[in-house]
Amino acid sequence: MPPPSNRLCVHTATTKPWSLDECFAEYPKQGVSGISIWRQTLEGRVLADVQRQAIDAGLQVVSLCRGGFFPALSQTARQAAIDDNRLAIEQAQTIGAPVVVLVCGAVPGQSLQESRKQIADGIAAVLPVAQQAGVKLAIEPLHPMYCDDRSAVNTMKQANAICDALGSPSHLGIALDVYHVWWDPDLQEQIAIAGRADRLTAFHICDWKTPTTDLLNDRGLMGEGCIPIQQINQWMEQAGFTGFREVEIFSNQWWALDQREFLKRIQASYIDHFG
Ligand code: ZN
Repeated sequence: MPPPSNRLCVHTATTKPWSLDECFAEYPKQGVSGISIWRQTLEGRVLADVQRQAIDAGLQVVSLCRGGFFPALSQTARQAAIDDNRLAIEQAQTIGAPVVVLVCGAVPGQSLQESRKQIADGIAAVLPVAQQAGVKLAIEPLHPMYCDDRSAVNTMKQANAICDALGSPSHLGIALDVYHVWWDPDLQEQIAIAGRADRLTAFHICDWKTPTTDLLNDRGLMGEGCIPIQQINQWMEQAGFTGFREVEIFSNQWWALDQREFLKRIQASYIDHFG
């Protein structure tokens, strides 16, 4: 289903203090038309009802966050990760999410090269499940500051290489998050390559603050930092991307405020950037 014209999606993690019901009730009031659902918000819910609840609220389910974390020091732990990714794919299918975002994983004390091999092996193991379920997997390259324990895939080039190595299957794509890749001198070229291979699956936006006081939870609202968001958006569109722009902000500062007020700020900033 194509997104409505404003293409504004918000991640439930952006308004972390809210339950999924609160997100369903509040997002449409601020012009939000898509929702990316984090698995934590599904705990204790009847998954079969979620898609209908989203539609009734006027929201498209854009993705399920998240799967991945494939590398591990033991075979048992790697298998557990594969099993969890199978479960994530099943959950996505049940709630009508067309995409599962993959934060690929890394293990301190294991070489990045070995972690990347285990990531490719892990994705290969769950690809048939994704295909069967009609769910697309989206590799999200993470900023290199997370390469110790969150992801050994840190650039669009590496994500493109994994897609190539696995035979470029149609249900494997890439989630581009401006926070993670804005610094990359090859970004425009790698977006174009991904676009030609029809891999541009998700587009996450926020901003990079100076100084950043917390490596995980100090992301900025669009306009608060130095990421050339409109430039990257233009490269995405030139490469053929027409999907939602997903606001994904982890911020202790914004979570501490009234989330309704925060959502109003998100909408205003989004309109500032994209009209
Ligand atoms: Zn992201």
